[in-house]
Amino acid sequence: MEKHIVILPGDGIGPEVTKAAKGVLETVAAKFGHNFTFETHEIGGAAIDNQGTPLPEDTVAACRKADGILLGAVGGPKWDDLPGHMRPEKGLLGIRKQLGLFANLRPVKGFDALLHASPLKPEVVGDSDLLIVRELTGGLYFGEPSERRNNGQDVVDTLAYSRSEIERIVDQSFKSAKVRRNKLTSVDKANVLESSRMWREVVEEKKQEHPDVEVEHMLVDAAAMKLVTNPGYFDVIVTENMFGDILSDEASVLTGSLGMLPSASIRQDGLGLYEPVHGSAPDIAGQNKANPLATILSAAMMLRHSFNMSVEADEIESAVQSVLNDKYHTADLKVKDGTQVSGSELAEKVSEQMTSNDTTDDIMRCYA
Ligand code: NAD
Repeated sequence: MEKHIVILPGDGIGPEVTKAAKGVLETVAAKFGHNFTFETHEIGGAAIDNQGTPLPEDTVAACRKADGILLGAVGGPKWDDLPGHMRPEKGLLGIRKQLGLFANLRPVKGFDALLHASPLKPEVVGDSDLLIVRELTGGLYFGEPSERRNNGQDVVDTLAYSRSEIERIVDQSFKSAKVRRNKLTSVDKANVLESSRMWREVVEEKKQEHPDVEVEHMLVDAAAMKLVTNPGYFDVIVTENMFGDILSDEASVLTGSLGMLPSASIRQDGLGLYEPVHGSAPDIAGQNKANPLATILSAAMMLRHSFNMSVEADEIESAVQSVLNDKYHTADLKVKDGTQVSGSELAEKVSEQMTSNDTTDDIMRCYA
């Protein structure tokens, strides 16, 4: 299969981790007989320095033509004092908005070798494997008006959704549940908010189309508690923008390692932007210390969600699992009796693991 991938390295450790993930994608292409082509463009601080804007037009144009987009991270102290519209983050928000990427997917899965680093007891976090599907382009963060009134004594923000915006994210969540364990928890605040009551109506309507998926509604406060008392309870969680923002950050600390968390922002036709959850880590940039696994796992998500290559995605994920089980790790991961390696060495271990697996079986599964 031929696929064109745009890489947006961004700032700080972004160039290191995207380079590492590109190497793993090349290994996948060689192993499975695909032809992946790559094109690199600037975003964030690097684009401000070289082109005077955090989101150059040629970056947007290239992303529009891509089959998938892989981003590192944006930002850093060098650009902290710039005015709001010139900040590196504007590049990221702008590209998501211009491409209409309305669904944010944040998987959280514990890795056995790292469970000791979780703030929860290993037996509580042990079997967690959940996906948060967050609505990304509507709700409170985008509602108008959002302003101060009455000489600054009153303030208003607006939580607005159209029915079609709710429908498309709910559709996406059912799609995700069906390729996982067929369980969907819709999180809202329907005892207080009218928008949540419409959200529940839509979920109830859509569930008729998916009788194989077990559906429940949960209030956001109860969901926040359940995430720390019994994270293994959840499969797919679907929720609106602000609740999703908070719950996905809460969930991200469960596994105890920021360097392991991938994410995707996608739209209905499957185009997606894939990026690690962590930032540009300026404190370790340029030292080959950055853990590339979150970006490598983001590349796996691209294969699964944008390219329909589940076998190849599984292959990357199990190679990461094996490398950790073999106790290779970067400095951010505390692995007892482990072997600390550089970021590029860790990525090479993932590629080596994939190359050493039996190719014939994988390719037969892929084309069966
Ligand atoms: P950060 O995620 O960059 O770093 C937090 C801590 O985690 C640091 O100690 C860092 O060294 C470590 N860390 C992060 N990723 C790591 C990795 N892959 N391997 C090893 N260690 C890793 O968060 P921050 O320090 O709050 O922000 C730094 C910059 O990143 C800021 O300019 C912020 O605005 C930006 N940021 C960007 C994004 C994004 O592009 N999506 C997200 C968050 C923060």
